[in-house]
Amino acid sequence: MDLYALLLRLRRKDLGLHDVVDELYARIEKLEPTIHAFLSLAEKDKLLAPKGLEKLPLCGVPIAVKDNICTLDFPTTCASRLLANYRSPFEATAVARLRAAGAQVQGKTNLDEFAMGSSTENSAFGPTRNPWDPERVPGGSSGGSAAAVAVSEALAALGSDTGGSVRQPAALCGVVGLRPTYGLVSRYGLVAFASSLDTIGPITRSVRDAALLLSFMAGHDPWDSTSLPLPPQDYVSNLRPNLQGLKIGLPKEYAPKELGPEALNLIDHWCATAEELGATVVEISLPLTEYALPTYYLIASAEASANLARYDGVRYTLRIPAPGVAEMIAQSRTLGFGPEVKRRIALGTFALSAGYYDQYYGKAQRVRTLIAQEFQKAWEKVDLIMGPTSPTPAFRLGEKTDPISMYLSDLFTIPSALAGLPAISIPGGKIDGLPFGLQLIGPRLGEKTLLSAAWALEEALK
Ligand code: GLN
Repeated sequence: MDLYALLLRLRRKDLGLHDVVDELYARIEKLEPTIHAFLSLAEKDKLLAPKGLEKLPLCGVPIAVKDNICTLDFPTTCASRLLANYRSPFEATAVARLRAAGAQVQGKTNLDEFAMGSSTENSAFGPTRNPWDPERVPGGSSGGSAAAVAVSEALAALGSDTGGSVRQPAALCGVVGLRPTYGLVSRYGLVAFASSLDTIGPITRSVRDAALLLSFMAGHDPWDSTSLPLPPQDYVSNLRPNLQGLKIGLPKEYAPKELGPEALNLIDHWCATAEELGATVVEISLPLTEYALPTYYLIASAEASANLARYDGVRYTLRIPAPGVAEMIAQSRTLGFGPEVKRRIALGTFALSAGYYDQYYGKAQRVRTLIAQEFQKAWEKVDLIMGPTSPTPAFRLGEKTDPISMYLSDLFTIPSALAGLPAISIPGGKIDGLPFGLQLIGPRLGEKTLLSAAWALEEALK
């Protein structure tokens, strides 16, 4: 049962909130020792006393939140030793809006430290495991959120997507993950990684759940200067069960033969299904795809190096005492950050340094513009773009030891992130018994068409 169906039953009173919470906590008790999706968890009893929330649209249901999104009542650790004891004095707008609609925060989920990674192995508090095979990763960086939803420890969760961190773990865990248009959902209270790319998105059991949560989360927020001046909208009521009249582009760069025969067969099957539902599928080309990864790793790392400069041991938790301020800052950062975060800071600081700024950061910014223009041109020919979310299903823990092979997991999620476009991952079938995600990308603010098409494909591919 998805959240949508569950809410109908809660409203009809043939199910009570305590039934829901009992069920979730029974799952948690049984599976959490293996999966390790949560970094902190609400007391069950607290969720059972929702104080009038039952009358609101979300009926008091618990929702899990990635631990780089600020919440009251729980620590916000970003899965970093540096913030292990940090408690935010305020709450993210996206969370506050879900609460205002009647949701409760169930707990905070595991992630790659500061959302840097694609496997959740970079968490300072131990990895999360994939519900389909505990020897494999759940993807990342929102691996805890995706695993919790996949294994029914949570009904729905929030993740953050900078370069793919909502979509890729959703794909690897066999659930739905939506990255909204940049600026549609407020970033206020999302701990900054790369501010020009960061978004908050829902990870859910179904497309209509993603549409439902987006309807509550979206809309202008004066506390985020990049928030778009738009009123909230209803993304659920216009979901249609077909793709009549839609033109879907399959970029040949998103289906290279290196994906292997099983993946290519699934992609063929998606195209055939889309056509049966009334769409026209055409091959298109996005030749700049190959430049997206280096562009992203320059821009995201540059922004990260600036954003993470605030963790100096002065204001935020971890402080290693040392003689002299410079030494204290150096020690706190050396012991507080994990290796991947340090790599990004080093890379970003280099890319921004005086003699190299234009050669690296400036150039990456120009390529980013070209990538956005390439998508813009594609929208003259097609309504949506389809392809796999990730090149492979879930890989084994410890399998990807060099950073480049890990970065390649985001090959198909990064271009749309650079362009600020909305994109969704839905279950697209299995390869060797493991989920393989189908990604749909839409034009800026094209969430209604995107969600409707995703819903039709989700139903047809079940
Ligand atoms: N895996 C990508 C990275 O490590 C994307 C992360 C994200 O979207 N937060 O940067």
